Amino acid sequence: MIDFELTGSQKQLKEMAHQFAKHAVRPISLEADRLHKMPQDFLERLSMMRGMMQQGEVPQEYGGEGGGAGEAKDKKGKSQKNRFALIGAEEVAWGDASILLNLPGPGLGGPPVQFTGTPEQKKRFFGVFQQPGLHWGAYGLTEPGAGSDVAAIKSTCRKDGKHWVLNGRKCFITNGGRADWVVIFATVDPSLGRAGHRAFVVEKGTPGFYCGKIEEKMGLRASETAELVLEDCRVPEENLLGGEKHYESGGKEGFMAAMKTFDSSRPMVGILAVGIARAAWEQTRDFVKENYMLGRALPHYAVLASTLAEDQRLIDAARLMCWRAAWMADEGVPNAKEASMAKAYAAKVAMKVCTDAVQILGAHGLERAQFVEKWYRDIKVFDIFEGTGQIQRIVISKRILKESPSF
Ligand SMILES: Cc1cc2nc3c(=O)[nH]c(=O)nc-3n(C[C@H](O)[C@H](O)[C@H](O)COP(=O)(O)OP(=O)(O)OC[C@H]3O[C@@H](n4cnc5c(N)ncnc54)[C@H](O)[C@@H]3O)c2cc1C
Repeated sequence: MIDFELTGSQKQLKEMAHQFAKHAVRPISLEADRLHKMPQDFLERLSMMRGMMQQGEVPQEYGGEGGGAGEAKDKKGKSQKNRFALIGAEEVAWGDASILLNLPGPGLGGPPVQFTGTPEQKKRFFGVFQQPGLHWGAYGLTEPGAGSDVAAIKSTCRKDGKHWVLNGRKCFITNGGRADWVVIFATVDPSLGRAGHRAFVVEKGTPGFYCGKIEEKMGLRASETAELVLEDCRVPEENLLGGEKHYESGGKEGFMAAMKTFDSSRPMVGILAVGIARAAWEQTRDFVKENYMLGRALPHYAVLASTLAEDQRLIDAARLMCWRAAWMADEGVPNAKEASMAKAYAAKVAMKVCTDAVQILGAHGLERAQFVEKWYRDIKVFDIFEGTGQIQRIVISKRILKESPSF
């Protein structure tokens, strides 16, 4: 049977995350957008809430907040990590998605360490998050000329004694400038395509590894997006994720380390878009109620009300698709198609809802002081990062054709 009711601990997490979003995140949202960064005192206060923020990011066996709701098992004894992460993230994104992307933790760097790292590497790199202070991880795949076409990365790695020497440039890396370590994907030989890929953990302060610039963006401005440079950067051999044996078969292990990340991160990106869409929808609903329901001609109101009804339906459908993909990840069922579907659909839905919000608020929707103006700018990137809408369609169509019996 299908049960859509949240469990007691899921409800508790949702409420806690909502209160955090409402009272701590939303009030600083416009200011953080204007400044292109988070207020420092807010970041410091965040370290006190580490348990909630790292929900599911640092595995319990490597020092993650034990006993947290994210570690709870469902009735069948399966982990609920991905489901919990989505429930909390929707609420915080309702407050402000770019602030959520600032929250300390391994971020997108976590999955490749978790899926490909040796036990020793997991202990070392996840251990960073147990040290006092605020710590971030990051994921460095994109390069100028290699965004959608991941196989085309040009950053190189060459073995030299007990080190690997890395050269190249990474761009648009979330939290890249402040991260304690970044998972960097490089190739032993660009002509090998995916089979040449290797994944390294490059630690902050490694000579030859530095932040080139922080990007100025249209939306999600409070989230740091960095260019990273590797110039004859010598990385100890212990930092090759999985160790050399892992790549001996000559297969696509390095590439797979990059791709497997998306099975859990795409539903997450989808639910962040849902959180923004819900925020925009709620503001639009309140605006319509205040301005149109009383004393205005019914036909005028009916057009706006039907837009609200349609958008509510789309938001609910997007949320369910994200939950399904997260549930599959928790079940250990391959979910690449469903993760792509959820992300692609939620991004499109959220763009429509934010566009409707600005339209319905009219000129007020364009005012800087109105949140919908910001959400309209923030939402565009959700159809670009973690694979553009077009790339999701390629992923989905390949899977559909592969699954089809006549293929
Ligand atoms: C705010 C932000 C944060 C990011 N964070 C990270 C991060 O932490 N780590 C990281 O590695 N990257 C990150 N990225 C990069 C992001 O993943 C890339 O921008 C994305 O993969 C798209 O690549 P691109 O920008 O190079 O576009 P391109 O790949 O150049 O694509 C340009 C256009 O061509 C289309 N296109 C490309 N190939 C095809 C095709 N085969 N068929 C049809 N259409 C195609 C695309 O859909 C797109 O519309 C971030 C980006 C942003 C904006």
